Amino acid sequence: MTTQQLNKILQPYWEEGWDGYCRFDDGWADLVHECHLNILEIDPKYKINQIKEKFGVLRFYYQNDPEIESNKIDDIIQKYELKSASTCEMCAQKGYLCKKKYWLKTLCFECSSKLGFEKNEKIINVDSYLSNGYRKDDNH
Ligand SMILES: [Zn+2]
Repeated sequence: MTTQQLNKILQPYWEEGWDGYCRFDDGWADLVHECHLNILEIDPKYKINQIKEKFGVLRFYYQNDPEIESNKIDDIIQKYELKSASTCEMCAQKGYLCKKKYWLKTLCFECSSKLGFEKNEKIINVDSYLSNGYRKDDNH
């Protein structure tokens, strides 16, 4: 699936006034689609605010139905955000967090050399990166 195809599927689920489209490359489209289907099982009325790449990993912002517990949805999203950190954003092969100057992107070896990225050696533990570093300056 491409991001464009995913945009069509997600169209009815966007919160009014928000992006209305995904801001990431095709390699994550299947992953995000799966995430969306999992959320729907818990909350069929949920609305999407933003789905994008930031600092090389997936960010998924949503509004839940107030009658439904949001932490179940948070667990799903966290799982897929973590998955994005090892999935090439271009081609969906196994990826690594890569760096080009100050730009971070999760890429496989082939895509990273094609796009002129280097594997980012500074960030080794993706789990701690996700739980500590990356949400600190998070203001949507
Ligand atoms: Zn790739």
